[in-house]
Amino acid sequence: MYNALGISNETIEFVSKCEEECQAEFSKIEKACEYNSLKVLSSFHKNRVSESCFNMTTGYGYNDWGRETIENVFKDVLGAEDALVRSQFISGSHALTVCLFALLRPGDIFLSISGKPYDTLDEVIGIKDNPSSLKSYGVHYGQIDLLNDDFDYDQIRNYLETHQVKVIEIQRSKGYSTRKSISLEKLGQVIKFIKEIDSGVIVMVDNCYCEFVSSSEPTSVGADVIVGSLIKNLGGGIAPNGAYIAGRHDLIELCAERLTLPGEGREVGPTLGINRQILQGIYMAPSTVASALKTAILTSRVLEKMGYEVEPKFQEERADIVQNIVFRDQDKLIDFVRGIQEGSAIDSYVLPEPTSMPGYTDPVIMASGSFIQGSSIELSCDGPLREPYIAYMQGSLTYPYGKLGLMKALERMKRQK
Ligand SMILES: *Cc1c(COP(=O)(O)O)cnc(C)c1O
Repeated sequence: MYNALGISNETIEFVSKCEEECQAEFSKIEKACEYNSLKVLSSFHKNRVSESCFNMTTGYGYNDWGRETIENVFKDVLGAEDALVRSQFISGSHALTVCLFALLRPGDIFLSISGKPYDTLDEVIGIKDNPSSLKSYGVHYGQIDLLNDDFDYDQIRNYLETHQVKVIEIQRSKGYSTRKSISLEKLGQVIKFIKEIDSGVIVMVDNCYCEFVSSSEPTSVGADVIVGSLIKNLGGGIAPNGAYIAGRHDLIELCAERLTLPGEGREVGPTLGINRQILQGIYMAPSTVASALKTAILTSRVLEKMGYEVEPKFQEERADIVQNIVFRDQDKLIDFVRGIQEGSAIDSYVLPEPTSMPGYTDPVIMASGSFIQGSSIELSCDGPLREPYIAYMQGSLTYPYGKLGLMKALERMKRQK
């Protein structure tokens, strides 16, 4: 059967050997998975999730019992005072945008302390000109880069002592950079530091790719508001779209009024029949995230043994589901990404080509053979064509499919040698 799929005995043996070395890491992942499952199940029970939650609303979406239950479940699972979970958020970037426009007013200062935020926010903030940016409304932007993969405490202190900052954004996952992702421990330290200098600053965390990787979320270490996408971790590979914002009740109310309209806020928003998928998605999410993590760990070990630099290494603690492989060679990066596409469920016969994308300076190559368009909790891999040619791989709905996808990628790399 393996051979029929184009996987050689040599590859099976090599990957199986690496897999054995990963067992201790896998059992840590299983523990976190069990704990997160416990959280989800408890919240289902507490909030009396029932079949009637799967009913849908149309039009304005008044009195959507299922939608309210979903938001209570997310609130509890994320350890937050409140949560807004909506399919009217078209992506994680949109939820981040709504959150920023909800919290900031003309003249306010917005500060990022984890370097430049995710690429899609360039035009939102006004780093790149756009007539609808925060900048166009008179919101000022400041940025402090990370220092040796940690926060630049001196600069943060200095900035906070000389500016009245309204919102600080921290992005945990690395995006298309080479830095490490930010652990909950480091996050907690910096939030404590910030609040000691200015307790009024709102700390907003971009939590994309990080949910359920460990057993708690940034709200437990003082984040005021956290944001994430449902076509990543918490959608469990089942939610068809949407995103969440969770955190302090007063801030969530502001976000709801910005998402819909002042005066109606969270009372409107039809669910059009997807409540069941969102509930089933968060129910599956602990396992889906565990599968993605195990796939990432195996990939890390395999590619490291083949002589490539990997980040994180297989035994390192992880803050997100993203695995970097540094190829230092354009063709190898392209082959690996094409191999992942070959090993995907959907469009496996399609050959990805590097193309330029809005918001990116270099051409990007992407493998995304997913059921849900652009879903990256499903097995996916991408990378900008620039030195040092890094592949960013993430996801897999199950570990066996992740392992098979990886083996297909190895075969493609062998063929192209
Ligand atoms: C994916 C991601 C986003 C944006 O999410 P989309 O749903 O793709 O818009 C924002 N920040 C980080 C760190 C991400 O990984």
